[in-house]
Amino acid sequence: MARFELTTSCSQSRHSNRAELHLDISLSKASAKVLHFFETTKFLNHFFLVFFIFMVEFPSILLENAVNSFASLPGIGQKTALRLVLHLLRQSNAEVENFATSLTKLKQEIHYCKYCHNISDTEICGICSNPKRDRSTLCVVENIRDVMSIEATQQYNGLYHVLGGIISPMDGIGPKDLQIDSLKQRIVPENIKEVIFALPATMEGDTTNFYIFRQLSEFDIKITMIARGVAVGNELEYTDEVTLGRSILNRVAFNN
Ligand SMILES: [Zn+2]
Repeated sequence: MARFELTTSCSQSRHSNRAELHLDISLSKASAKVLHFFETTKFLNHFFLVFFIFMVEFPSILLENAVNSFASLPGIGQKTALRLVLHLLRQSNAEVENFATSLTKLKQEIHYCKYCHNISDTEICGICSNPKRDRSTLCVVENIRDVMSIEATQQYNGLYHVLGGIISPMDGIGPKDLQIDSLKQRIVPENIKEVIFALPATMEGDTTNFYIFRQLSEFDIKITMIARGVAVGNELEYTDEVTLGRSILNRVAFNN
């Protein structure tokens, strides 16, 4: 006969923090029972832990659905989603309805400009319909955010053409998935004189530039690309070799 002494701590007890359990059983039976005891305890601990987390995070299915909807947005995790949902819960009904309506109307009523594919409230966007823009120059960009970025510089007065992406075989995006045919179709009717490539300085961006360049080679137009080089504020010693090499090759006349 072997004597086992199992001591457990009970931190939540007011009167005693320790309880002693004495087992007078055979060695083989004791091993099996102790093992079974810990396995059962482990399973129950996991079960209650999952149940506890579930109950703490989502005491309501409605809350869970709202959090999951926010968490499906890029860059939004579960914690941020919960914070946003709880913030909305503190808003008035009118404010929440206004929030929801603005999103619904955005999806239902937004237009894409029939010429440049920029986002618009009307069939033709504000840039394409602006008579003060230079209508002989087209700037080719990947997406709508790029239009906003270039517009923010206030240095460009021509028109745009939004491709809706760039050629990326790894992501299954080919030329037919982009607005390249519609770009070609604009050149003659709109009397375009210059097309500026303003695509990302990546392999995919270069591939797209090259593809479009070949597509436009039949037209008598000037094809240019935005300059690539050392960023404003960057030290030369911290600039990568490719960028610095391009800066030297694409050097420009010094104008004071
Ligand atoms: Zn437009």
